[in-house]
Amino acid sequence: MSNFSKSKFEGKKFVQVRFDLDKCAEFNRSRVEWIGKKGKSYNQIISSRSPYKKQPSSLSPDSHLDYDLKTGRIKIKRKKYIRKNKKTLVVSFSGGRTSAYMTKRLLEEEKADYKDIIVIFANTGQEHEKTLEFINNCDKNFGFNTVWIESVTHKNEKKASTAKIVNFETASRVGDPFEGVISKYGIPWSKAGHCTRELKENPIKNYLKDIGISIEDRVMAIGIREDESHRVSNAAEENNMYYPLVNWKIDKESVLDWWEEQAFDLEIPEHFGNCTWCWKKSYKKLITVMIENPEAFEFPEKMEKKYGKTGKIAEKMLNNGVLKNQKSMKFFRGFRTVQDIREMASNGFEKFIDLHHLHITDGCSESCEPFLDKPKEIKNIIPSKIINK
Ligand code: SF4
Repeated sequence: MSNFSKSKFEGKKFVQVRFDLDKCAEFNRSRVEWIGKKGKSYNQIISSRSPYKKQPSSLSPDSHLDYDLKTGRIKIKRKKYIRKNKKTLVVSFSGGRTSAYMTKRLLEEEKADYKDIIVIFANTGQEHEKTLEFINNCDKNFGFNTVWIESVTHKNEKKASTAKIVNFETASRVGDPFEGVISKYGIPWSKAGHCTRELKENPIKNYLKDIGISIEDRVMAIGIREDESHRVSNAAEENNMYYPLVNWKIDKESVLDWWEEQAFDLEIPEHFGNCTWCWKKSYKKLITVMIENPEAFEFPEKMEKKYGKTGKIAEKMLNNGVLKNQKSMKFFRGFRTVQDIREMASNGFEKFIDLHHLHITDGCSESCEPFLDKPKEIKNIIPSKIINK
């Protein structure tokens, strides 16, 4: 019935396929694209009598179908027509150059395709002042009309973080939203990245819910460039996610070139992007931040002291886990503390140099993009027996 490579899907009942209607010569001999693990796509011919009773014209080229490996039948799992003009496009603006570039082009080129475009910036209270100024400049110069929100944590309730509206003047510069999240969930680290979830994803989702935009009513624009396309979610269409920069084939160089032509820019080097001391950054970037702006680490150091034992994960890790008998949780790779980063900085170190910044002002840093698939675990570099010494 079919030359479909079933052996590749052992143990699976369904595989997701997508009709490529442009190339589909006859409906009963349809070329389909199936999406394998890691988002890799393959083309196959399925020759079946009638995979779907309706005429091909009634299916969108983006329709997602399930191919039943047992029966060989295809059925629509969920029609994935992205009826753009009935949906609101939501742009999560990180305050970086890439997402600013994407937002400007979307507003200019695709506004008419959507019911509305909403630009949201979720402030953690630990961004560099220049990041906040950059967002404000985008609002003033490009008319982004950004909705500035901050996370509101509900400490003694089983309730995800909601959002409150702030603006450039009232946005926290001292980490209040971040402290709220840490006081409930504890110190984030490589296996517990709840800061992105509770400072960005959940507040954005709840804000949208509050203004009556459900998941079906919206498309999320994600600022992943073509050179980062391996980060595109496998469930992108199912979750109404849209990657304009990948579609437009925009890489980092294209973004930087574009900013060179603009009247204003993000005036900080790459290592200061997002939360200035973000635990996801490389040691090299963190140590550079420590050398150039040691005050940036006052907040995480205070959090380590105040909330080192807070949260269920800390309880588990400090009682029986890899940090057994340690005094507190640690933010950084290899279970390093702020003091460890300080010591590394004082031991002689080759600084991170943002080459682009040497020429103009900044490179792109987009390491904290919400609504992505979970990243691969950041490996602990220090073996546990050394940590526990
Ligand atoms: S930038 Fe880093 S520290 Fe800040 S919310 Fe994102 S992952 Fe957490």
